[in-house]
Amino acid sequence: MDLSMKMVRDIPSVVSHHYKNKELNWPMIIYVGLVHTIATVGLFTIPKCSAETLIWSFILWPISGAGITVGVHRLWSHRSYEAKLPFRTALMLMNSIANQGSIYHWARDHRVHHKFSETDADPHNATRGFFFAHMGWLFVRKHPDVVKAGRELDFSDLREDPLVMFQKKLDPWFTLYMCFVFPAQIAQHFWGEAFWNAFFVAGALRYVIVLHFTWLVNSAAHLFGDHPYDVLSYPSENPLVSFCSIGEGWHNWHHKYPFDYAASEFGISTQFNPSKLIIDLMASIGQVTDRKSAHAAWVMGRARRDRDKAAGIPLPKAAPRPWEIEAKKVQ
Ligand code: ZN
Ligand code: ZN
Repeated sequence: MDLSMKMVRDIPSVVSHHYKNKELNWPMIIYVGLVHTIATVGLFTIPKCSAETLIWSFILWPISGAGITVGVHRLWSHRSYEAKLPFRTALMLMNSIANQGSIYHWARDHRVHHKFSETDADPHNATRGFFFAHMGWLFVRKHPDVVKAGRELDFSDLREDPLVMFQKKLDPWFTLYMCFVFPAQIAQHFWGEAFWNAFFVAGALRYVIVLHFTWLVNSAAHLFGDHPYDVLSYPSENPLVSFCSIGEGWHNWHHKYPFDYAASEFGISTQFNPSKLIIDLMASIGQVTDRKSAHAAWVMGRARRDRDKAAGIPLPKAAPRPWEIEAKKVQ
């Protein structure tokens, strides 16, 4: 794996390479540095907060998390189900609390990620290592292939959604307000918390933790875990990432069948997946329709695999990972 001493020793040369080539994205480096700094202040503010504020901060994890998983991921990026206007509005607001860029830009990058996974055109190409896939991709200019791919795909459905365009138009001010100020105003108004206590804890600290939980899908779930549905791909089944990202770590299934609304094979009693539960609950009250499932496709895929196995045809073997090749060269 690329978390070797060599990777650590390479950091200065990688940074100076990007610096010399003027590839560093300074506004993003400053922004991510700043939010981590105020999240650290949040860490030390926890003892000053009331129990209500701590509970509020905690429940903002699934609320903002679902704005990503149920909202921009499964609905707007993959169109794996249809949602009525009231639920779509709630998802847009929850997504804004998560503050991971506008729905439009998130969905655009994510569609490119699926179409060109583990290539130069993948915005967070995991073959470039854990750190790059996790957050390093935000710190450098996009690879020209990513920009080119973004121009070639069709995003007209996103442009036709007034909620998506409303959020895009007010980007980044609306999401910044919803992420940092709104949670503090709620705490101040309803249980008299000091504004800045809630700003640092329910706003900044919760935000940065949920950011890393989302980033783990691109890093850890692309590097660690099993590959039962597609042995050749990087994305894997990772229970820990599923816990952090409220059900988004069943990533081998998801990349094989991105149109599946559950983003996992089994039900929620077997695979931790609150995001699926939310979609099912919303379907039960008529807010969600047309949930797409990949089970029929997988039944055929598995039957094909079983036939091959019975005929003595071995499973295809994944190519060695770049760092495995590197490690072999060193030996
Ligand atoms: Zn992925
Ligand atoms: Zn996806």
